[in-house]
Amino acid sequence: MNARSIALQALTQVVTRTPRLRLGPMPPPLLLHVALPVPVPRLFDYLPTDPANPAPVGARVRVPFGSRVLVGVVTGHGEVAHADASALRLAEPIDTAPLLRGELLESLRWLAGYVHAPLGEVLATALPGALRHGDALPETGLHGWRLTEAGATARATLRKGRPRTLADLLADAGADGIEESTLFDPLAQPRDAARALLARGLVERVTLTHRPGPQPGVGPVPNDGQRVAISAIDAARAGFAAFLLDGVTGSGKTEVYLQAIATCLGRGRQALVLVPEIGLTPQLLARFRTRLGVPVHVLHSQLSDGERARTWAACANGDARVVVGTRSAVFLPLPEAGLIVVDEEHDTSYKQLDGIRYHARDFALVRAKALGVPVVLGSATPSLESLHNARGGRSMHLHLRVRAGDAKPPQVRVVDVRKRSLEAGLSTEAFDAIAATLRAGGQALVFKNRRGYAPVLQCHDCGWSANCPRCSAPERNVPMTVHAAGRRLQCHHCGHRKPAPNACPDCGGLALQPQGAGTERIEDALIARFTDVPVLRIDRGTTGRRDALETQLATFGDAPGVLVGTQMLAKGHDLPNLRLVVVVGIDEGLFSADFRAPEKLAQLLIQVAGRAGRAAHLGTVLLQTHHPEHPLLATLLSGGYAAFADAELEAREQAGFPPFAHLALVRSEAQQVEVARGFLDGARACLGSHDLDLHGPLPAPMPRRAGYQRVQLIVSSPDRRRLHTALDATMHDIHALPAARKVRWSLDIDPVDLY
Ligand code: ADP
Ligand code: ZN
Ligand code: ZN
Repeated sequence: MNARSIALQALTQVVTRTPRLRLGPMPPPLLLHVALPVPVPRLFDYLPTDPANPAPVGARVRVPFGSRVLVGVVTGHGEVAHADASALRLAEPIDTAPLLRGELLESLRWLAGYVHAPLGEVLATALPGALRHGDALPETGLHGWRLTEAGATARATLRKGRPRTLADLLADAGADGIEESTLFDPLAQPRDAARALLARGLVERVTLTHRPGPQPGVGPVPNDGQRVAISAIDAARAGFAAFLLDGVTGSGKTEVYLQAIATCLGRGRQALVLVPEIGLTPQLLARFRTRLGVPVHVLHSQLSDGERARTWAACANGDARVVVGTRSAVFLPLPEAGLIVVDEEHDTSYKQLDGIRYHARDFALVRAKALGVPVVLGSATPSLESLHNARGGRSMHLHLRVRAGDAKPPQVRVVDVRKRSLEAGLSTEAFDAIAATLRAGGQALVFKNRRGYAPVLQCHDCGWSANCPRCSAPERNVPMTVHAAGRRLQCHHCGHRKPAPNACPDCGGLALQPQGAGTERIEDALIARFTDVPVLRIDRGTTGRRDALETQLATFGDAPGVLVGTQMLAKGHDLPNLRLVVVVGIDEGLFSADFRAPEKLAQLLIQVAGRAGRAAHLGTVLLQTHHPEHPLLATLLSGGYAAFADAELEAREQAGFPPFAHLALVRSEAQQVEVARGFLDGARACLGSHDLDLHGPLPAPMPRRAGYQRVQLIVSSPDRRRLHTALDATMHDIHALPAARKVRWSLDIDPVDLY
C-alpha cells in the first residue's frame, strides 16, 4: 500500500464515521477496540466517554484494567453487539487526533502479526516512553539558544567549566544563536550547563522562524562505483526498491548515503538513517550536519524520555527532515518519507533480544515498501540474508570495490602461535610490530573479544576451576571471569560476582592461577612494555556510558599509543592514525556450535581489520591463531569476505539453515528442567499437526542461567508462509497451555542468537 492509498483510507474512515451524527433511530452504542500493553494476544473493548465524538483510530486512551489504569491505543471501532453495554468500562481520551496513523499504524499491525505478539505490546515498544505513558505530544518548533545581554557581559567572569564553554560557544554564534538539536546532540551534554545559565538569565531559549546553520557543504567528486550507486538510488525515488551497498570500510558508502539524502531533501522528503548503537558518533553527526546543512535529529538510548518524544513529534509533524538513530528509530513516523538507510546492516544489534523481538533492518524493508521509498542497506560485510536477497533479485547489489581517496587496503599477516611462548596472549611478533608502529609515530590496536583479566581461575594443584554457581549445570560448567588482576570473579552471563578465593576450595592449595588473557591482562602487559605512550582499554567495563567511550577516544587523540579492547572497537569513532591491528584469541569462534558463528567471526575480523590504515598510512593486520589452515581463515585471506560468504551460503543451503529456512525459537525457562520442558512438550503438540521441522525440546546451548533451567524448541520450515500460518493457528492454544503459567517463555521469530 502506498502513502496515497493510506491517506485515502484514512479519509474514508472519517467519512464513514459521520453518519453517526444523523438524526433518526438511535444507532447501537459504539465501542472502542483498544490495544493494551499486556501479554494477552487480543484487543479490549471500552466505551467512549463521548459517544458522539469517540477517540479516533490511532489515538491514545486511558482505561481501567483490573485494578490498574493503562494507556492504550484505539485500533478500531465496533458496535456493542447486545444491550449490556453497562458491563463495559469507559475509555478516557488522551489525544483528539490520531497519534499513530497511516503507514506507521499499518506497518506496526503487520509487525504484530509477524512476531506473533499482542498488538498492544508492539505499539508500546514502538512509542517513546513518554508517549507510551500518556504524556502530551511535545511541541517541536525550531528552537535556538543564545546569550542574553547579561550573559554577554558576565561571560568573561565565568569560571572555567561547562557553562563557560557553552557561553563561549554561544558568543561565537552571535545573534542567531545555535539551533537546539545541534547544540545538544548527541553526546556532548551541555544541557545541565544550559539550564544553569538559563536560571541565571545569562542565556535564553528562543523560537526560531528559519533554520540557521551552514550552507550544505560540498563533498568529494564521486568515483565510478559511487556514481553508479547514487544514480541507481536516485532512479528509484518514485517507489520501493531495495539496495545492498556492498563496499569495504573506507570505500565511500557514507558519501553515497549523503548524496542520496541530499537529493531526497531536495525533493522535499524526509530521510531516516539507522546506525548500530556504537556507530552513532559525534564525528558521524558532524559530518551529516556540515554536509547536509539542515538540523539532523537523533534518537538513541541515552536520550532522556523528553528528548525522545520530541524527536518523535518532530518526525510526525515534518519538522525533522533527517533523523539518525539506533534500532528503535525504525519506529519513527515518516509522513513525508523519501529514503531509508540502514548502515552496517549486518550488525546484530539491530535485533532486539527481549520483549518484542523485532529486527530493525528487516522492519526497515517492510516500512520502505509500505511507504513506497528506496531503502539502502550498507555494509562491508553484508549479512548472508541480504546477500541471498540480492542473489534472488529482491534487492539490487551495488559494489564499491576500492577504498575512496588514496587509502589502501590493509595487509593481513597470519601469525601461527602454536608452540610459541605468549605473554598475556601476545606473541613476540605482536610486541615487535607494536613497538615498530609506535616508533613510526602511529597507533596500534589490540583486539581481544574477552573482557576481564582472565577467562578462568584454575587450581594448578588439583585442576579445580571457579565456576558460576547460578549458571553451571552438571553437563556444562560455566567459568567465572577473573577481574581486578585476580581479586574478583564475575559471571558474564548472569552478572554474579564474588571475591576470588585465597585458597582452592577443593584441595586447600594456594596455586590458584588465572588461565588465558582478557583485555585487562593484555592492558597490564602493554603498560609494562610500552611505558612512554598511553595505553587505553575500551570494553564494557571501562565505558558505562557511550559518551565515556567518546571522551576517552577524544583524549587519546592521534599521538602514538596503544588501544586494547573488545568488539566495541570494531567500529564507531574513526581513528585516522591507526596503523596496526593485532587480533588475538579468535580461535574459540572457529569451533562454535552456533551455525551463525562463522558469519559473525568473519564479519568481526573484516571490520576490525578495516580499522587499520584508513587515512594516508598503509595499515597492517596481524592475526594470531593456533589454526592457520582453518578453512574460514584460508578463504577469508585468499578471497576476502565475498568468497567466504559464497562458501558459507552453500554450507547453509546444504544444512537447511537460514536464509534457506525460516526459524522460530520457542524458549522456556523455569527452576526445574521438567517444568521448562513440560511447556515445550505442550507447544510441540500444538504445532505437531503442521508440516514443520521441530527440533526439541532440547536444552539450550546454555542450559542454565541465573539459576533458571533453559530449554528450547526450534521450529523450522523452508517456506516462510507455512511457518507463519502454523504459528497463527496455534499461538492462541500455546498461550492457553496451563504449563505456560509456570514458566518464563518467549517466541523469537528469525532468531539471531540461539543462546
Ligand atoms: P565508508 O562509509 O564506506 O567507510 P566513507 O564514505 O566514510 O566510507 O569514506 C571514507 C573516506 O574517504 C572519507 O574520509 C571520505 O570523505 C573519503 N571519500 C569518500 N568518497 C570519496 C571520493 N569520491 N573521493 C575522495 N574521497 C572520498
Ligand atoms: Zn585445588
Ligand atoms: Zn552466572
